[in-house]
Amino acid sequence: MNTTDVKTNLEKVKASIRDAELAAGRPEGSVKLLAVSKFHPEQSVIDAIHAGQTLFGENRVQEACRKFENVCTQYPAAELHIIGTLQKNKVGRAVNICTCIESVDSLELISTIEKQCEKINKTIKILFEYHTGEESKSGFTAYESLLEAVQFCSDSKAPHVIPAGFMTMAPFTQDDNAIHESFCKLRETSERLRKDFPQLKLDTLSMGMSGDYRIAIAEGSTEVRIGTAIFGEREYQKA
Ligand SMILES: *Cc1c(COP(=O)(O)O)cnc(C)c1O
Repeated sequence: MNTTDVKTNLEKVKASIRDAELAAGRPEGSVKLLAVSKFHPEQSVIDAIHAGQTLFGENRVQEACRKFENVCTQYPAAELHIIGTLQKNKVGRAVNICTCIESVDSLELISTIEKQCEKINKTIKILFEYHTGEESKSGFTAYESLLEAVQFCSDSKAPHVIPAGFMTMAPFTQDDNAIHESFCKLRETSERLRKDFPQLKLDTLSMGMSGDYRIAIAEGSTEVRIGTAIFGEREYQKA
């Protein structure tokens, strides 16, 4: 994908997000765009930065570090979120490079993030990933365990960890109703927890990818995570 394509795609996606905001009767600018650069080269990230994009997402810590250690030094405005399932032994490297971990799916992971952040005296945002679709495997599956994790943070047991909201992935399906249901479930769960934990700022609803972000915006998404529509198809063998 060349520089012009990334720029053109970014503009298209941003215009389409604005349309979806409008269609949903939501204020313009209420949905943030996270550009998912996994499996794409550092140059594509730099092209996107030159086109005005600052917020990026990566799945795998090793790949993220390889790409973003350099990018973040060169472009201090660039910000990275980790969005993929995170193994405990990768947390140290992850908290070094990112500002938010969106894929928090267990209490143990929160404790590990706390420990690593304390070491380097850094606070980090997290999103609680909730399992809302039949096919997705990641995220908290039981509401009770999600609640327990939110409670843990609310009790200030992880002072370097700042809960900022929720993330989900809809099932991979052509069935729009199933996708609506999945996003609706995250919104309703977030509303319930926001009410029960008013002292936490759980504003972010990270939901929607290239194939389903319009539905996500209709369901109240505040952040869409878009890869393919910006950077093109991923070439997995290259990564
Ligand atoms: C890869 C990925 C995305 C982006 O998916 P596209 O379909 O390429 O837009 C979003 N969220 C997560 C968690 C991902 O792993």
